[in-house]
Amino acid sequence: MPPGATVSVNGRTYRYPRQPVVVICIDGGEPEYFDRAIAAGVAPATQRFRDSGHWRQARAVVPSFTNPNNLSIVTGVPPAIHGISGNYFWDAGAGREVMMNDPQFLRCPTLLATLAGAGARCVVITAKDKLRRLLGHGMMGICFSSEKAAEVRKDEHGIERVTDLVPLPVPDVYSAELSEYVLAAALALFRRERPDVMYLSLTDYIQHKHPPGDPVATQFYAMLDRYFDAFDRAGAVLGLTADHGMNAKSRPDGTPNVVYLSQVLESLLGPGQARVILPITDPYVVHHGALGSYATVYLARPTDRPAVMTRLRATGGIAEVLDNATGCARFELPPDRVGDLIVIADRHVVLGKAPAEHDLSLLKEPLRSHGGVSEETVPFVINRPLRPGYGHGDSLRNFDIYDYVLNGVE
Ligand SMILES: [Zn+2]
Repeated sequence: MPPGATVSVNGRTYRYPRQPVVVICIDGGEPEYFDRAIAAGVAPATQRFRDSGHWRQARAVVPSFTNPNNLSIVTGVPPAIHGISGNYFWDAGAGREVMMNDPQFLRCPTLLATLAGAGARCVVITAKDKLRRLLGHGMMGICFSSEKAAEVRKDEHGIERVTDLVPLPVPDVYSAELSEYVLAAALALFRRERPDVMYLSLTDYIQHKHPPGDPVATQFYAMLDRYFDAFDRAGAVLGLTADHGMNAKSRPDGTPNVVYLSQVLESLLGPGQARVILPITDPYVVHHGALGSYATVYLARPTDRPAVMTRLRATGGIAEVLDNATGCARFELPPDRVGDLIVIADRHVVLGKAPAEHDLSLLKEPLRSHGGVSEETVPFVINRPLRPGYGHGDSLRNFDIYDYVLNGVE
């Protein structure tokens, strides 16, 4: 591409990369984890970025779940445009709950595919395989997950023998090592090939179990910092953000602090009149039991809506109840993939269906989870300072990160 070339996608314009950019999405990366790691003295690179790079906080997408936010980061737009409103939605036409892992549900191209189409060498590495096909949709380049690193093929993933790159065994899907493997593979690829654009998406395994300041969390952030340092010293423009924060969601006795919505609705309406969808639900429920702080509710009889809203608003632990139009306008969501109501829980509360539908025996630690407005604040960090005068002011979103690393850095 000629000097000064740009690409445009989804209404935004980006400079073609003139130096390698690496964006890392720290899944569940509540900002306090950085603060505590710096305070503990184990995150010197992160501290350096804070002191001499660009150090901000930004708002994530609500529902503050993994898929909507990851897709916003790689498309530069909210779910109203890209269509991925959660891990699950209710397909009213088909009469079933549908997982949104498949690219057929994506309604716009990604920046990564657009840059690859313009000739940039792009690499996507995810921790869990569930995100791989969405993030890599339409993108010529390298795209694989550490979960399935032993199964990569040139025709499907753009690379082979990933396991030769990384001096670590392929980790268990429920482990901190799954994130480290992403970073180790990415760093080896960076040194070998210097791709133009990388997107690395980690897993929130640690954040679901360990609060900021907990020794295990601090150790995890020390590991992250060593990779941040290596990318920085290797010459990458490094952007760090998160898909969502994370908060404690348990009672003092350690049991999950749940409002079971189906029970509340059934007591009001009788059986079969309301369907509760929990879009946090995915094939990897072990660390959250499918309990998050956001739900959407479909009503069989639209006329029940006012009474349901009144009842839910009077229910302890519920922060907000919005109708479809109001909620989709505020959170920039696709109305056809959201129910009649959006329900948001309080900071330390999660929403469930009925007790029998959640296997809480899988939860080994007091529940930490996300999904609500209370988890929408995330870090927004770049290892370099911005060009003078560059910036979006106070309305910063996590999905502005590629704009900043491509357009905002000299
Ligand atoms: Zn996540």
